[in-house]
Amino acid sequence: MNFQRPIVAKFSKQNLQHNALLVKNKFAKNSKFFAVIKANAYGHGQLFAVEALKNIADGFALLECENAVLLRENNLINANQKIILLEGIFSAKQAKQVLDCNIISAVHCVEQFQWLLEQFQKNQKNSQVLEIAIKLNTGMNRLGFTQQNFANALNLLANPDFAVALKNQKIKITLMTHFATADENLPNKGIHKAITNFQNLEKIFQQKFPNLAYQKCLANSAAICDFPSVHYDWVRPGIMLYGSSPFGLQNNKTAADLDLKPVMTLQSKIIAIQHLKAGDCVGYGETFIAKKDMKIGVVACGYADGYLRSTPSGTPLMVNNQKTKSVGRISMDMLCCDLTDISGEVGIGTPVTLWGDGIAGSLPIDEVAEFGGTISYELMCSLANRVKREIID
Ligand SMILES: *Cc1c(COP(=O)(O)O)cnc(C)c1O
Repeated sequence: MNFQRPIVAKFSKQNLQHNALLVKNKFAKNSKFFAVIKANAYGHGQLFAVEALKNIADGFALLECENAVLLRENNLINANQKIILLEGIFSAKQAKQVLDCNIISAVHCVEQFQWLLEQFQKNQKNSQVLEIAIKLNTGMNRLGFTQQNFANALNLLANPDFAVALKNQKIKITLMTHFATADENLPNKGIHKAITNFQNLEKIFQQKFPNLAYQKCLANSAAICDFPSVHYDWVRPGIMLYGSSPFGLQNNKTAADLDLKPVMTLQSKIIAIQHLKAGDCVGYGETFIAKKDMKIGVVACGYADGYLRSTPSGTPLMVNNQKTKSVGRISMDMLCCDLTDISGEVGIGTPVTLWGDGIAGSLPIDEVAEFGGTISYELMCSLANRVKREIID
């Protein structure tokens, strides 16, 4: 007997591996890929993701230096797997750590250049390699160098002290950017403007360092699926690894269309049943009023579990392999759903699938996100600590 509160998040290692192999063997088969495992692997658990992808991914992308060090020092990944810090280092101190642990650091500002190059100079006798991914701002306007400041920033690297190291690939350079609208393949959207900007910045780099070998890393999941011309040396899939579509429910581009399989399933059970008369209300604020007699199920899942309170009445969920709808406001610990037309036996203890591929049925997380006015990324990252986690295969 299981007496625990019935909400559980189930994680499929096999589906994660399936999605990663699709990236490797189909979507971006001519590139290497960094599995993006930031934000605790989009809520799936960093160690779970790393273990599943240990023999598939060419590298891992994340944010925290201490997290990257942990992967290296505990040998949680293979020695030949790369690690990249997507925001680079946050202080001079971390420069030593990234060099010691063979971690690639994004460099988006002059300060990061200085911290890393100074440390590299101090360490040169150790024959360490400094790998940096220079972040170019091609239109997102968050991180990176622009036409205005790139040439100046490169002067630090053009110092004659580093000429030999660059030539011998003791300092290895990747040019990197991130697209703002790779999921919108429309005229005047997509990546066309960003690519023009990238090429102009690349020219500045080539003029400063003629004949220097370097790599390129541009594509997120959306660009991996839609723009093979920008795959280059490395790609950076995130959301597609976790089985959701970077295009949400866009026509012909859903997770099912792309053959992506859900990695996270959120499942709970019905813990109470209510029979309503026409005119009765449900939940806080009495925002839902029954138009007819109804049977309502109360599910042990609320916003303190990560099911967003902004999710409106009418959001799909699965009971007995049938799709039904939430009714009323989401509470902290519960939500209500319409059981009026659900066939078969339904009562206390009946399983409910909130999203994913559960015993109560399958429901793409992208559908729930769409109803909630958000994206699957936010739902995944919102999964609360108090929800039990189970790895199912
Ligand atoms: C999060 C992130 C990604 C992954 O994006 P997805 O849309 O999840 O594929 C790639 N690159 C950078 C810089 C990111 O921050």
